[in-house]
Amino acid sequence: MSSLHEPRGLIFDIRRNSYHDGPGLRTTVFLKGCPLSCAWCHNPEGLSPLPELLFRPLRCIDCDACANACAKGLLPRELAAGGDPTARGRAGSYIPGAAFGADSSEKSLRSPCADCAAPCAEACPSEALQLMGRAIGLSDLMAELRADKVFYEASGGGVTFSGGEPLAQAGFLSAVLDACRAEGIKTAIETSSYAKPAIFMNAALKTDLLLLDLKVMDAARHRAYTGRSNFLILENIQSAAREGLAYALRVPLVPGFTDYDAGLEAMADFALGLEKSWQEARECSSKTAAAGETSPLDQGRAGEGHSPVSDNGYRPEIHILAYHDAGKAKYAARKLLYHAEATAVPSRERLEAVAGIFSRRGLRVRIGG
Ligand code: SF4
Ligand code: SF4
Repeated sequence: MSSLHEPRGLIFDIRRNSYHDGPGLRTTVFLKGCPLSCAWCHNPEGLSPLPELLFRPLRCIDCDACANACAKGLLPRELAAGGDPTARGRAGSYIPGAAFGADSSEKSLRSPCADCAAPCAEACPSEALQLMGRAIGLSDLMAELRADKVFYEASGGGVTFSGGEPLAQAGFLSAVLDACRAEGIKTAIETSSYAKPAIFMNAALKTDLLLLDLKVMDAARHRAYTGRSNFLILENIQSAAREGLAYALRVPLVPGFTDYDAGLEAMADFALGLEKSWQEARECSSKTAAAGETSPLDQGRAGEGHSPVSDNGYRPEIHILAYHDAGKAKYAARKLLYHAEATAVPSRERLEAVAGIFSRRGLRVRIGG
């Protein structure tokens, strides 16, 4: 049981037995909140840093268990649907499928539900009403992660922190990474790298593998498709490589957005430069280790309270991630505009052609995560 004084985070899912978020068998923790808003994002439930009460009318069996569970006498369905949560008379006239406001969920838990653990969602037998985002303390999360330790050890796996953007909850993430390291649980962070450099590097030095999204090289396109500049992102990725940290670049291939030859060629050149920096850092580390000395990089880490970065055998890779449309239904359920609505899934031929852009430069590349 978590204490009130320990670090607490907000997560929206924990997925066990994953083979896609790093080596071996993994448990992936999804942290809520993201500073970017990618046009093709398939996890809209991860965007808001607040809990979200989601109502899916088609699953509702009209049992009224949610309303009965609300100690404040509200009508949770109406609330999540953007209606008047105190208008009891509307219950009978509720029409499944009625529109709900684009940002109704955020409003719904800020007021009047901000201090509530949402027993309404707990009471719902059909998951028509769901609370996206639960607060969790460090010790409760560690208990959940520890439960699969035997599988991590047998498979060379571990825990991956994803989102949303895990660095958006930097303090909590840092505490969980420390706790995992103390217990010998390997970790990975899947990140957009959009964070202040000190925050990025603090987490990067505490994890075993960085899964770094690299969406678009062109600054104007990046801002148009994600809402943010890629300046910080590219800086952070370069810093990680210069430190010799284990990383993979994750390239989402989204037709109409990220999938254009000139951009991918520029990205492959960038990836090649990164790998050279990474190799130089590793060579410097191994030479100083052979001479029984501490490398300047490791001296710097010790000064900041981090352990030296060990060579865990991971070599830089490029992962080409094909766009998939699993997120479409989530936007429909929230009545949100989905900018990738008309986007097609890339063909196998196109994926292989894009992989060729990277492999022709001698980079290790694979299709999928
Ligand atoms: S979140 Fe809490 S206050 Fe809000 S409707 Fe549900 S039970 Fe009532
Ligand atoms: S508890 Fe769930 S299924 Fe029952 S009325 Fe509420 S939303 Fe519908």
